Amino acid sequence: MPELPEVETVRTVLAPFVLGQTVTKVQVNLPKVVANLQPAEFIQKMTGQTIQNFTRRGKFLTLHLKSGAHVVVHLRMTGTLTIENPTAVYEKHTNLVLTLQSGKELRYIDSRGFGHWWYYEPNQNDDSGQNLLGPEPAEVTLEYLQQKIATRNTALKTLLLDQHIIAGIGNIYADEICFRAGIRPTRKGSSLTVGELQKLCTIIPAVISEFIQFHHVPFEVYAASKGTSYQNDANLAVYGRAKKACLHCGQTLIGTRIGQRSSVYCENCQK
Ligand SMILES: [Zn+2]
Repeated sequence: MPELPEVETVRTVLAPFVLGQTVTKVQVNLPKVVANLQPAEFIQKMTGQTIQNFTRRGKFLTLHLKSGAHVVVHLRMTGTLTIENPTAVYEKHTNLVLTLQSGKELRYIDSRGFGHWWYYEPNQNDDSGQNLLGPEPAEVTLEYLQQKIATRNTALKTLLLDQHIIAGIGNIYADEICFRAGIRPTRKGSSLTVGELQKLCTIIPAVISEFIQFHHVPFEVYAASKGTSYQNDANLAVYGRAKKACLHCGQTLIGTRIGQRSSVYCENCQK
């Protein structure tokens, strides 16, 4: 599942191709992709709209239209966005296509079909879920973590994954953050010391911004992978490395499940 750094890559790579572009044609190949309108209504409302801005909040992307309307996109598990020439073969599961005045197509591909698009008129309430998100990782403060994490008898990993507490962190970066902080993901929020919360406060934004940098790929690389290669693997210390040696101490990393999510940590480096 793309997490904040991956979604940010999608935004930065695609922005030059969509900004200032007018949508000349819309195709909806899987009706349920548009969460709050019938496909015909979405097509009618989107055609002729000009994309003025392209922003991200947590794992949500928003196309801001010149009319004041906006479109929210959530990629969920397997959604990807690519820019293609109209002559390029359509990938299987191309669920939605916006043709731009440049002639290029913004294609939305999603094999599992869990991702959504929402269209909102200028004064319409945005109920996509992005208004319920906690702060971005870069905005987290010690006081905030003391209120939202230190008061909870829930595993730290589960709290980090809660989008209402902090926006954008998923399974990969929750494990990486816990490793970097030297804290076991199974620890209850209420067991964390002020020092540990302070550490998290620094490490949460640091890990997220580092991976945004790692993912900074040229369009050609992004396009070749159809928007699915984020180049984070080489830089992951624990995620996906259960039973392998810890990069810091060499001890075998523990693979476990926390709140039904696979989790990896080092018993020696994380207390
Ligand atoms: Zn270790």
